[in-house]
Formats: sequence, structure tokens, C-alpha cells
Amino acid sequence: MLKKVLIANRGEIALRVLRACKELDIKTVAVYSAADRDLMHVHLADEAVCIGPANSTQSYLNIPAVISAAEITGSDAIHPGYGFLAENANFVEQVENSGFHFIGPDHNTIETMGNKVSALKYMREAKVPCLPSSGGALTSDNQKNLKIAEQIGYPVIIKAAGGGGGRGMRVVHNAAELINSIGMTKSEAEAAFGNGDVYMEKFLQNPRHIEIQVLGDGRGHAIHLGERDCSMQRKHQKVLEEASAPGITKEQRQRIGDICVNACKRMKYRGAGTFEFLYEEDEFYFIEMNTRIQVEHPVTEMITGVDLVKQQILIAGGAPLTIKQEDIKISGHAIECRINAEDPKTFIPCPGKVEVFHAPGGAGIRVESHLYQSYFIPPYYDSMIGKIIAYADTRELAIKKMQIALDEIVIQGIKTNVPLQQEILADKNFQKGGTSIHYLEKNLM
Ligand code: ADP
Repeated sequence: MLKKVLIANRGEIALRVLRACKELDIKTVAVYSAADRDLMHVHLADEAVCIGPANSTQSYLNIPAVISAAEITGSDAIHPGYGFLAENANFVEQVENSGFHFIGPDHNTIETMGNKVSALKYMREAKVPCLPSSGGALTSDNQKNLKIAEQIGYPVIIKAAGGGGGRGMRVVHNAAELINSIGMTKSEAEAAFGNGDVYMEKFLQNPRHIEIQVLGDGRGHAIHLGERDCSMQRKHQKVLEEASAPGITKEQRQRIGDICVNACKRMKYRGAGTFEFLYEEDEFYFIEMNTRIQVEHPVTEMITGVDLVKQQILIAGGAPLTIKQEDIKISGHAIECRINAEDPKTFIPCPGKVEVFHAPGGAGIRVESHLYQSYFIPPYYDSMIGKIIAYADTRELAIKKMQIALDEIVIQGIKTNVPLQQEILADKNFQKGGTSIHYLEKNLM
């Protein structure tokens, strides 16, 4: 069992991890940038260490500073949250070499899954369904690339092996555009990710984004906790997520869930992870695996009753996963709305002082946020300031509860995307369920 966990993150996820540690009677260390002295979890942690200036490259992404903070505080483990260093294999290797437990998979797994070409290769071998693709990085042989595209059939998408956050992708509709697009994606990828490898796969015109949550204990035992639908996206960024996915049957869940579990067992996966799929015409196609806790994890927690963050911590401490697949019973429906400090029309971030804050409440409403009245939202980081999760017996009632919660919430002094979330919840097609990843951008903005 771990004794002291250093939380290498900020905002709502740092607070989420802190609360999980407290429930497990584990001491906590907060690390923070000079702009983040007033973060809620910094005040609530047993110890807090400033690790650098506001700029995240010098603080939250500063590997020596984070590891030094773990050393001077006598921490025995590091929880990375999501973003920042969570999927940085080099960081994880240094954490391991410095003698700390990393709360997540080992650096080799992170490296394999962090490169989309190697991840796809692994998944194909593990019999996870993937899209028709080049099967590996593209070479500079133009004729060969034209042939691959022809075999896959246009439209195709050129994607960077090292890409992330929705960047490093280009859709190609015909042969005339192909060679140029490969070249452009390659040089962008080289500049953005330091890796110019790109590959090609079939571009789906109208898919949904459905992902499977897994837990593995690193000893070969793994389970899945059902799926989430994260199709409400803007610029490849999720805006609203729900579990279960509308229209997915028990049989479909079991079939794709078992495939993911088998892949986890094969790699002796350790920790929480997510298999992301595109879903079109009743078929799932793997696109990537995230080797960390995700923003949208609470919706899965609500419908399964499993605390994913506590499980991550227990597993990292060496405990076997005692939950069996048959223990996972899905009940009810959960929806999460991400609350961002941004203009609801232009999406321009809106940092500043929160003059008034009143959180919503009532049965079935969960608030994950580090916000408090007179807190100053610094301009240096992601604009997400919290998440509201609504849980009810049915999807219909969960939508209703979320609408009531969004009517109740008061955030003054800054602009937020609450009006956009209200628009989504009131939309007839969203209410029907099953809209595609393009729906939000095409219809509600
Ligand atoms: P990232 O790591 O940047 O998030 P992903 O591979 O997860 O990249 O893709 C991000 C998003 O891009 C997907 O959620 C989807 O909206 C779109 N996308 C990626 N691949 C395809 C594809 N083959 N067909 C259609 N859309 C795609």
C-alpha cells in the first residue's frame, strides 16, 4: 500500500486524486506553479511544493522539478492525472529509475501506445478491429502510396504517428491531393511532435466516438467497465460525454469489451486505460489507446459504482485487482458536461476572477471542480474549470437533471460554455441519442 502520493497535476483532476488518496488514508503532496498557489488542492494537501513559474514547460512539464519534489517530500508514488506528463514515456522511465511507483502503466506500454503506428500494430495482432490502413508508416514511394490509397478507397486520412489532441491529421478526397497532403502532414508532424512518421487509414464520414474503459492489475487480470459515448466534440475536443452509449446493446458491449480485455491481458496492462473507437454502421474501429485516467471517467463510475481513481492507486501499490468481470453491473445512465471558462459563441478562453460561484446540487448531481468564490482563473492553462455529472435511472431523467443543474449553477465574473451545454441538452437529435462526431459543429454552432 502506498503511503504518500505526489499529484503531478492541477485543477479538478488534482482535487479528484487528492480526495481518493484521503479516502485511502494516503498522504498527499501537491506540486504547483507560481500562478497556482491558490488552487484548492494545494491548500488541502498534506504538503505543497512550488515547482516553477506559471509557464507549464517550466513547472508541470518540468521533469527534474517534479521528481525532485517527490524526493524531498519522501513520496513513494506519483499520480500524473491527465495531460501534462501523464503519457510521457520518458518521464515515466525516470520516475521508475528514481525508485517511485508511477500510478499508471510502465514506460514501455506508454511508449507503444503513444505511437499510433505501433499501437495499431499491437491491436491488429491482438485481434482488435481496426480500419483498413497502410499498416505502418508511409515511405517516400509516391506510386506505392497512391496504390495504398486506392486499395483503401477515398476518402482517406493521413495521421501522424506521434499525434495527439486532435492535431496532425489531414483528410484526402482524391489522388490529386494525396502526395502533397502526405508531405504537408509529415513536415507538420516533424515540427509539432519531433516525429515525421505518418500513416494512412480509411476516413469515416459519419462515425460516433465510443470508448471502452478498462482496468488491469499488471499481473494478467483485466476487466472492462462498459463504454462511453463522446461524440459531442468541437475541433476533436470532447464537450459532453455519456455512459452507456445510446443504442449499444448488451451483446455489442460484451463483444467489444471482451476484445479489449483480451488485449489488456496479452500486454499485462497495469492501471486504468481507454480503448477509443470510431463506430459506424454497427462496427467498431480502434483509433487509439489512452494509458491514463480520462476527463470523462466519472460517467463510468456512476453507472458501475467503481471508483476508478482509487483502483488506479491500489493497483500501483501492488494490490491485485479483486473486481471480476461478472461483478461489473451497469445500471442507470450518466451524462457529463465539461464546464469551460470561454465565450460560448467564439470559444475564446475567458480567464479571470470568479466573482460569484454557486454549485448545483440535488440527488444524482456530482460536481468535480476546483472552483470557489473569488478564485482567480489563471490564463496559462486549459480552460476547463469543472465538470457536472448527472446520474439517473434513465437517460431521459439524466438529461432533465442536467438541465436543472445547469439552470442552478451561478458563475459570475467570467464567461462559460454553460449556454452551449444547455443548447445541446435541449436539442431534439441529442435527446434521441446517437449523433455523430460532426453533429455539434454542423448543427449547433
Ligand atoms: P488524437 O490522438 O489527436 O486525439 P485520434 O486518433 O484519437 O487522435 O483522433 C481524434 C479524432 O479525429 C477522432 O475522435 C475523430 O473525430 C477524428 N478521426 C480520427 N481518425 C479518423 C478516421 N479514420 N475517420 C474519421 N474521423 C477520424
